[in-house]
Amino acid sequence: DAGTTAYRQATALTMEGVHHSFGNQPAVREVDLDIAPGEVVCLLGPSGCGKTTLLRIAAGLEVLQRGRVTLDGGEIAVPKGRHVPPEKRNVGLAFQDSALFPHLTVLENVTFGLKGQPAHQRRERAMTLLEQLGMAAYAESYPHMLSGGQQQRVALARALAPAPQLMLLDEPFSSLDARLRDRIRDDTLHVLKKVGAATLLVTHDPEEAMFMADRIALMREGSIVQVGTPRELYCAPCDPFVVAFFGEVNEIQGVVRDGRVQTPVGPVEAGWLPEGSQALVMIRPEALRITEHFDPAPEHRYSHVVMAKLLGRSSLLHICAHGEDGREAHLHARVPGVFLPAEGQRIDIHLDLSQVFVFPSTVAGTGT
Ligand code: ATP
Repeated sequence: DAGTTAYRQATALTMEGVHHSFGNQPAVREVDLDIAPGEVVCLLGPSGCGKTTLLRIAAGLEVLQRGRVTLDGGEIAVPKGRHVPPEKRNVGLAFQDSALFPHLTVLENVTFGLKGQPAHQRRERAMTLLEQLGMAAYAESYPHMLSGGQQQRVALARALAPAPQLMLLDEPFSSLDARLRDRIRDDTLHVLKKVGAATLLVTHDPEEAMFMADRIALMREGSIVQVGTPRELYCAPCDPFVVAFFGEVNEIQGVVRDGRVQTPVGPVEAGWLPEGSQALVMIRPEALRITEHFDPAPEHRYSHVVMAKLLGRSSLLHICAHGEDGREAHLHARVPGVFLPAEGQRIDIHLDLSQVFVFPSTVAGTGT
């Protein structure tokens, strides 16, 4: 029917209620996720949260235990039923340990999956991808002559060559050094968008996910905590875990009074939390705006610098803030560029509230 057709056109991969256990230990819990054609979705999360298992289920390398998986609208896996094997799924796989064929050259590795095309077309297609991934000069080399990072790029080219509907990439940049990684990420994203492949990419690196993803699915202990654009996860996190996963954060406990929580760096709106309840205020280091304190009046509150370090593109300050209620807080502030005030320097702090988040506290309130 029309509804089904629209649905089929709308998603490249759909996972519904997917659950997977090893023995009696759940690795993936009731996951719903879909990927639109041409969309890059990153599975992000700490080690052991189930990212690779979910990818292996999409690839068909794990037999589905519970839920449903469809590829381009066609059912490819149901528990105790249909299981389309990996090689029949029109899926490109590049895993961390993707082995190249050792007895084939780089070019032969990449053309390997291109069946039913004239030789010159296969060669042209492979060379284009190798060029785009900076590996054209190694076309005649054998895998053992390449570094780990170069092998990874060839594995990527091989996976992309047949122009699969869906690319499944597990930490594809993990063996690249930092400088090369940036470039290869850039090139890979360019190729993925050009090919128009829907992509599910596993990473534990938030910056990589933000760079690569149209949408990020952040996982914890087998479940998806939040799915959204990089901006949605960074600017509208649904949970303290999401805030903390994207970088260091200052945490302050407080009580909701008159719809606000008082912190040593000023009040924060929390009108949506019950009056008198305990709240957790999370303040990103870049939310602290620092100015020199000039007010000579001794009774006027101020904060002071405990330590300042230059990190390169930004400076990290350890500061001690003194609240109006006499509370003290040790906080980290991140300031762009070179900003190295002396130890003990008196400062004023203003909060950029767009980088401050309030959640109900899971710690039992004292009611005070
Ligand atoms: P990493 O980033 O470290 O690769 P991950 O998020 O990809 O981690 P998975 O590899 O999916 O996590 O593992 C999820 C959980 O399932 C872990 O607790 C892991 O120990 C367990 N697990 C994974 N594969 C197996 C297996 N073949 N047998 C038993 N347990 C497994």
